[in-house]
Amino acid sequence: MFRFVLVTALMTMVIVAGLKLSSVQLTAQAFQLEASNERALLKGFSEVDPVDAHIHVYKNDPELTALVKQLNLRAVNICVIDDRDPDYKGLEPQRTEVLKFRQSTQGRAAFATTFDPYGFEQPGFSARAIRQLNDDFAQGAVAVKIYKVMGMEMKNKAGNWVMADDPAFEPIYRDIAAHNRTLIAHLAEPDSCWQAPNPASPDFSYYKEHPGEYAYAHPDWPSKETILAARDHLLQQNPKLRLVGAHLGSMETNVDDIARRFDRYPNFAVDVAARVPYFMLQPRDKVRAFLLKYQDRVLYATDLVVLPRSKTTDTLAEFRKTYARDWKFFSTDQNVEYLGHTYRGLALPPSVLRRLFHDNALRWFPGLVTLPNS
Ligand SMILES: [Zn+2]
Repeated sequence: MFRFVLVTALMTMVIVAGLKLSSVQLTAQAFQLEASNERALLKGFSEVDPVDAHIHVYKNDPELTALVKQLNLRAVNICVIDDRDPDYKGLEPQRTEVLKFRQSTQGRAAFATTFDPYGFEQPGFSARAIRQLNDDFAQGAVAVKIYKVMGMEMKNKAGNWVMADDPAFEPIYRDIAAHNRTLIAHLAEPDSCWQAPNPASPDFSYYKEHPGEYAYAHPDWPSKETILAARDHLLQQNPKLRLVGAHLGSMETNVDDIARRFDRYPNFAVDVAARVPYFMLQPRDKVRAFLLKYQDRVLYATDLVVLPRSKTTDTLAEFRKTYARDWKFFSTDQNVEYLGHTYRGLALPPSVLRRLFHDNALRWFPGLVTLPNS
């Protein structure tokens, strides 16, 4: 979450500043060319019947609804609880906004719920959480999210870190599997969270802005290996539970780490939300071979965030820019500019693109509505 909000505003300022300089015409031409490239890419994107398996839209914005329809987009719209962040303190008002947006998009933006994990030592905790989740399943929730507060924030009364495989959560996982719903697990963070500040890292500015989430500044926090071992244990303990590891399952630097888990746990898939740059940083042939081999285990996703205070113009531009860039990277062998670097696109075959951008989401989230025209 949280990574994309300011970029568009900055881009707009740069364009406006460019116009104030002498080369007004040149800037306008470049802008037009970029806009027509973007339109062509978005046309290809919309033709694959795309599903974005990881967004956070907490604002029912009619213009965004129109864009979702125009792009022929479906999405999994995810609630998150994090008591360290004022925007994410409780399930409400997110849940209400997510349901409103689902209605205005006629089911295109599906509802993924969560539960408050912090009361895990209180009597009746799991029964209460299960009651709430079952209500949400009755409302059509397709998935349940767990978050990195497990392993990086929560401690029990004895002062030990609470991991995702804590026995307190086990009845909840069994309930999710019994309802044939999916668990979305954002556990741990990129490796860079545990490493000294490095301006070349895709996450450099994020940890600068969120020092409270930066493990390197908190040497007492558990290691990434410990957190992922708990996630793997959860997978092993719950073979009937489908688990989608958000953000490449936090194994972003080496596709071999993901492949090893795929081979071990048939109930595991990953989404690419906010981690496409990490594909770009690995050898192109290796990433391509990985996506061909595991073409039924990787879900296209972005992690785009729209808060109630977000500006519509910024939101629309960010959605268009992100989908156009990602489609270019996965579907063409053209150069893609990202974070000041140039990468060659993966040019995946159409059948694989269809799986990544469409089929896999429908298989891993069986509750997703099939639209009449798709
Ligand atoms: Zn997210």
